[in-house]
Amino acid sequence: MEPTKDRAPRDVRGVILDIDGVLQFQGKAYPGAADAVRALRDAGLTLRFLSNSTLHSRRSRAERLRQMGFAISPDEVITASSATAAYLRTLRPRSVWVMLDGAGREEFQDFVHDEENPEYIVVGDHRSRFNFDTLNKALRLLLRGAQLVAMSPELVDASLGDVELNVGAWAMMLERASGVQAVYVGKPSPYVFAMTLATMGLRKDEVIVVGDRLSSDIRGANDFGMRSVLVKTGEYALGRTEGDARPDWILDSVADLPALLGLR
Ligand SMILES: [Mg+2]
Repeated sequence: MEPTKDRAPRDVRGVILDIDGVLQFQGKAYPGAADAVRALRDAGLTLRFLSNSTLHSRRSRAERLRQMGFAISPDEVITASSATAAYLRTLRPRSVWVMLDGAGREEFQDFVHDEENPEYIVVGDHRSRFNFDTLNKALRLLLRGAQLVAMSPELVDASLGDVELNVGAWAMMLERASGVQAVYVGKPSPYVFAMTLATMGLRKDEVIVVGDRLSSDIRGANDFGMRSVLVKTGEYALGRTEGDARPDWILDSVADLPALLGLR
């Protein structure tokens, strides 16, 4: 796979950066990543950090990144859980069952939670609570008319260490078994890119997307019509290069991004 453009990106006023596999991986910041973010910010670029992680809220994600040396505020972060909560708010659901662990649950505080008769079953990362009982309970609720929303379509993930089943795998199992079509909110859904762009005050041709995953970051940028940069770290470095998405530029790591943009 070769990049389709060899010249530097022009007229970039904003950058949407993936977090896991781009800024940090498995709890460790990549060398030069915090400096790169600082250089983009010093150049006056509008930054957003768009992650398919569901376990984190915007607040917890920004806090963890700050501990790693990144100067990032919660307002600049969009997680798959915060994006899904925003999507659900537009539907004004009567009640929800949010299958999710971790700080990401904070994003759903203002919903009516009902695990017995929810209007929507919302699948995030439920960790070990994805078991025989909860999954069959969800199946039966879907067969009785509940709607299905998934925070991400990604099937596997290695951002926490060993490779494991990700949100999309559980959601697709429920979708397939119940016959209820799911709505998938996280990357590569154009919805989450549109939502992120709407917070930036920029046009899509003024923004580039940076990610390590062809099937989510680059696919999403292609489908939404934004330019993109693939970094060869994170999932890419682990050999997960599935899909036919086409980045406009390819870099060894995010540390090279300021130079690509002509900032150094
Ligand atoms: Mg990633």
